[in-house]
Amino acid sequence: MRPEILNPLFGETQSLKGIGKALAKPLEKLRLTRVKDLLYHKPSYWMRRKRVQELDEADVGLTIIAEVTPTDYRSGGPRSPFRVQAADSQGNIISLTFFGRNTGWPKKLLPLGESKIISGKLERYGDELQMLHPEVLELAEEKDIALVEPIYPLSDGLGNKRMGQLVKQAVAMAPELPEWIEPSLLESKKWDSWQESVISLHGREDAEQCDRLAYDEIFANQLAFMLVRASNRGKQGVSIQGDGHLLDQISLPFELTGAQKRCISEIEGDLAQSSPMLRLLQGDVGSGKTLVALMALLSAVEAGYQGAFLAPTEILARQHFEGLQKLLIGLPVNLAILTGRDKGKIRESTLMGLADGSIDILVGTHAIFQEKVHYKKLAVAVIDEQHKFGVSQRLMLTQKAEKSPHLLAMTATPIPRTLTLSQYGEMDVSRIDELPPGRQAIETRVISDGRLPEVVDGLGRHMASGGQAYWVCPLVEESEKSDLAAAEDRAAALKLRFGDQVGLVHGRMKGPEKDAEMEKFQCGQTRLLVATTVIEVGVDVPNASLMIIEAADRFGLAQLHQLRGRVGRGDVKSNCLLLRGDTLSETARARLSLLRETNDGFKIAEEDLRLRGAGELLGTRQSGDAGFRIASPDQISQLIAAATDDARLLLDRDGGLSSARGQAARIALYLFERDWGVSLIRSG
Ligand code: ADP
Ligand code: MG
Repeated sequence: MRPEILNPLFGETQSLKGIGKALAKPLEKLRLTRVKDLLYHKPSYWMRRKRVQELDEADVGLTIIAEVTPTDYRSGGPRSPFRVQAADSQGNIISLTFFGRNTGWPKKLLPLGESKIISGKLERYGDELQMLHPEVLELAEEKDIALVEPIYPLSDGLGNKRMGQLVKQAVAMAPELPEWIEPSLLESKKWDSWQESVISLHGREDAEQCDRLAYDEIFANQLAFMLVRASNRGKQGVSIQGDGHLLDQISLPFELTGAQKRCISEIEGDLAQSSPMLRLLQGDVGSGKTLVALMALLSAVEAGYQGAFLAPTEILARQHFEGLQKLLIGLPVNLAILTGRDKGKIRESTLMGLADGSIDILVGTHAIFQEKVHYKKLAVAVIDEQHKFGVSQRLMLTQKAEKSPHLLAMTATPIPRTLTLSQYGEMDVSRIDELPPGRQAIETRVISDGRLPEVVDGLGRHMASGGQAYWVCPLVEESEKSDLAAAEDRAAALKLRFGDQVGLVHGRMKGPEKDAEMEKFQCGQTRLLVATTVIEVGVDVPNASLMIIEAADRFGLAQLHQLRGRVGRGDVKSNCLLLRGDTLSETARARLSLLRETNDGFKIAEEDLRLRGAGELLGTRQSGDAGFRIASPDQISQLIAAATDDARLLLDRDGGLSSARGQAARIALYLFERDWGVSLIRSG
């Protein structure tokens, strides 16, 4: 149960003063639905304003507050902006510039001869001083402008002023909380109490003070993972030792890579234990994770148990089913599939087979872990593309058998080590850090989007010669709607040229609709697939050997790498074209050229973190986890070791979290919505 002291903070933001229905949407969008969310809504920067008596060249570039009197209006032609000339008390002139057709409102705002307070960024325009769209106030209102003010991440319909008011109300509700940080650490870092830190996060411009709050979050995160780990260690699983009678019958047309062998033996080591395995298998796209998973599943079957293989989408589930079927030809292994699509008799008989143990391995979507699905003796569960699932889903999965099954989670998202610990802290990690030999590298080129017509011509030739291609449309920040619009527009334009050969998939499509569209592409009915990033996950179409990514600079590097991994799966040489705008920053250039130079996902991930501080790398939003709200990737890197140690120490001393500090730590777990860990605490 959530500690009572937190209840006010978990009240709905909607219950605060001054919130009408109109704010519900923007608040939701910013994920500020609870009062405590506002506490952690970190200012994106601090606005400093300078009150000046006189307008002065020297202040160009600063945001200033000044008193001026409008003296003249100048409107240029229909295409040039409307300007209000104004003078300060010394006669220095400034041009207040307004874009837009409506000249009525600037005139109303700034009547000639009436002194006003203006605020905005001072600029130079030719040899004049100017301010674009200044904030205009009455003289008496000057006191309302803060000289230093936090500026918050905002959303349509929710301005900074209102946001500031909401945050203030939330901060006023923040109670004193018992301290969960180790006293010696608190002292050595000179951190304030939680309440003081929250107050100063919104009260003064000082980057340091947010470290404590970030630490809290990381600590709660690591503590929750450790609780999962501890509870897992205490569980009774089944010790599996295959005798090899099935594994030996599989004939592969190739040698396993050294990395695959190493991972397999790490997994076998885990399976032999009686406490259940909890392992993450990281391996770049195409590194051969499926085969490693199959070995684990077969070990279970050899020992007389069942295995389950969970994929995030219908289409991937079918793909895996077919792939495994081929590998298992001639073996006495009963493989079955179950997805949301399977209904009626087929479903019934699959459920029967699972319950009576006649099905050895079940592949499917999350349907395979629904309530009605009972396994006779599930011993190994594999989750593919793990980053699409959250921790709580991982936990649910392990509750499917009397004895906890061994769990193998797989991901192709290469993330840096520090972040692995913060994302998958409860698991042991195996890495396939080597690709099978002889893979053709994907040739990657960065091309200016001015050359789009050439690119389309090239695409035409590619398709005419029988190839298939993907066209990924840009991510438009903060707006699914425009994502979709961009993809739809592009698809429409390409259809004009290529007709019915063009398919379109996007995130707003319903599952079956999307699957149908993907299947058309897979079987070659469509030859060009225009998509938003939904194709990111594991789809395998060997005949697709060209990937075009529009506005590539707007994607995360790791994401680009994932996308690129959709091609290069067949025998022909694959190409990836990264289209970019013409005004790229140095960093953006460096990032894109890194992709041109290497195909090594781990290297790309580390570099992406270094160049950018890797928000998207974490990808937590997709997984349904709370994610990190306050801790930045940098802070995670810097603080995670201390937080992990601290959490471990606490649990060593007080595994039931019953001491005063333990109780305080429980509060932290709830505060950061990591309370799934709490239910796992063993009493006593
Ligand atoms: P991913 O790690 O992306 O899931 P897959 O398991 O789908 O990769 O493997 C990609 C392809 O590589 C498959 O066609 C698989 O048969 C092949 N493969 C796997 N291991 C090897 C190996 N050791 N040598 C050559 N090909 C391999
Ligand atoms: Mg895979």
